[in-house]
Amino acid sequence: MFNVTRPADAPESLAARRSYSEEDVLNKLREIFYDKCYLCEIKDPTSINVEHFDAHQGNLDKKFDWNNLFYVCVRCNNIKLAKYNNLLDCTNDNVDVFRSIKHLPPHTPYQSKIIIEAIFTDEKTIETAALLDEIFNTEKTINKKITGKYLRKKVFHKYNRFLELVNEYLDDELPQTRKDESLERLQVLMSRNQEFSAFIRWVVLEDEYLRELLGASID
Ligand SMILES: [Zn+2]
Repeated sequence: MFNVTRPADAPESLAARRSYSEEDVLNKLREIFYDKCYLCEIKDPTSINVEHFDAHQGNLDKKFDWNNLFYVCVRCNNIKLAKYNNLLDCTNDNVDVFRSIKHLPPHTPYQSKIIIEAIFTDEKTIETAALLDEIFNTEKTINKKITGKYLRKKVFHKYNRFLELVNEYLDDELPQTRKDESLERLQVLMSRNQEFSAFIRWVVLEDEYLRELLGASID
């Protein structure tokens, strides 16, 4: 997961209370959430929903509350539903959602389970880790099993790209300019606006050498 900063001013269309997903709301959420699902971090504009962080269950104040609207992919929204309703809030500056839950990428494109681990023992962290574990590893339905496989494969590709750049940076046969470029690209990959940033950042956090090299780029 990744933290985001939500501006205080709500998009204008919410005041009319007709819809919570008009263009101004979607555009603003897309910008705030770096175009990523706040749960799985996929960048897929074809599958985006506006979610109620605290399920509104008919309550109009919650339904049109700007602070309750999150940018989420259809798959994650469908897994979360109202079942998980006590989660870490990535829009809260006082909560470091990235460091609260360990995410480790798969070592191969077809690894059947990836590691999601709560670092703290409070209820919100535990429940958020359980939801993320279901998102990345569930086999509950055939549809979720297949799409989960696809999701893990996408995470692997990002991780593989990261490793390629690390190898380039360490390759003494490459000219210094190329190595410098690899380092710059690695620093970009550390940014929270990148797809699956939590996985890459946790690889860096867990490795002494990489932490020394890239830790400062974890924003
Ligand atoms: Zn998602």
